[in-house]
Amino acid sequence: MPGARAAPVSAELTAAERERILAKAALFTPPPATLPDGRRDLVGLSRAELEAEMAAIGEKPFRAKQLWHWIYHQGERDFARMTSIAGALRARLAERFVIGRPEVATEQTGRDGTRKWLLQWRDGQQVETVYIPDSDEDRGAVCISTQVGCTLSCRFCHTGTQRLVRNLGAAEIVGQFMAARDSYGEWPSPKDDVPRRLSTIVVMGMGEPLYNYEETAKALRIVMDGEGIGLSRRRITLSTSGVVPMMDRCGRELGVNLAVSLHAVTDDLRNEIVPLNRKYPIAALLDACRRYPGASNARRITFEYVMLRGVNDSEAEAHELVRLLRGIPAKVNLIPFNPWPGSPYRTSTYEQTARFAAIVNAAGYSSPIRRPRGRDILAACGQLKTESARGRPGAA
Ligand code: SF4
Repeated sequence: MPGARAAPVSAELTAAERERILAKAALFTPPPATLPDGRRDLVGLSRAELEAEMAAIGEKPFRAKQLWHWIYHQGERDFARMTSIAGALRARLAERFVIGRPEVATEQTGRDGTRKWLLQWRDGQQVETVYIPDSDEDRGAVCISTQVGCTLSCRFCHTGTQRLVRNLGAAEIVGQFMAARDSYGEWPSPKDDVPRRLSTIVVMGMGEPLYNYEETAKALRIVMDGEGIGLSRRRITLSTSGVVPMMDRCGRELGVNLAVSLHAVTDDLRNEIVPLNRKYPIAALLDACRRYPGASNARRITFEYVMLRGVNDSEAEAHELVRLLRGIPAKVNLIPFNPWPGSPYRTSTYEQTARFAAIVNAAGYSSPIRRPRGRDILAACGQLKTESARGRPGAA
């Protein structure tokens, strides 16, 4: 496939660049997790922070352990029902703390069982969270968001038309999964071999998670903690548009599965579809994938490829994709483009998608054609968007 050769891989994916990304994230921090009446939300605190809160009221570290169990294993929101804690202390906890949840502004269930929640936070900002049931089994994935809006403006994505308003805090990220579990009544957290209905998390909703790394990582550590929700890292997939400097850190520290929004095989085209490519071109992105800790044939990196008619769906592009992926334990998800009002693309025909898939498959890469889910409630890939907008400076 002809096309612009990727820019040489930058050797300067340095700590300084990571610092810059983290500093920028800090400009969009979530509001403090304290209510107007002064009570502190305990959801989203690390274990150490929870212990510190207990120490501040003269309680021993084991109280934090007890609370962790009630909050994340039992899903309890009311201190009064925490029967392993003495009544007087329960009352004292309720005076100082809350166990927060987002407000469910709307809940819609699509014809195929996909469920979408519009969740609202204390400052009125909203995001969407989606449960995508497996079509064959009684389980499914919860797709969670990490930012209100997004900075990246991927052209096929509805969320990308919404400016970044702010990052979500750890409480808000883990709170989406907890709210979804509330909706299905999946408490206490299933243990060991007990099947889970909400069995996987895909961090693929609104926003670029690696542009909000610290809060996302904190939330995922809470989700993975074996004494609480206890979802294994193998059941969590984080999707990035290719924030190369943060990918190593994500793999090293969290070890979750990685998905990469690729969508094009030349830099020229990817610059247009995923503008972040101008900063981190395809070659640098694929090098980061080759280095990704924990990737193996058993744990392949997923490459997301949205099928855009006449844009990126030719057979030559399928062959080039195969060439690019050589040496990476990979699978390719072919996603029929999900239109949204005003979107600039059309969905590839099924026949063309099947031809593309056959080429990728023949090269030894699994390349399922994703069935669109939740289209009737605008819950499918790339369709999420809320009315939240960033206040203009000086606006009331
Ligand atoms: S695809 Fe992801 S990173 Fe790109 S604009 Fe949409 S939400 Fe942002």
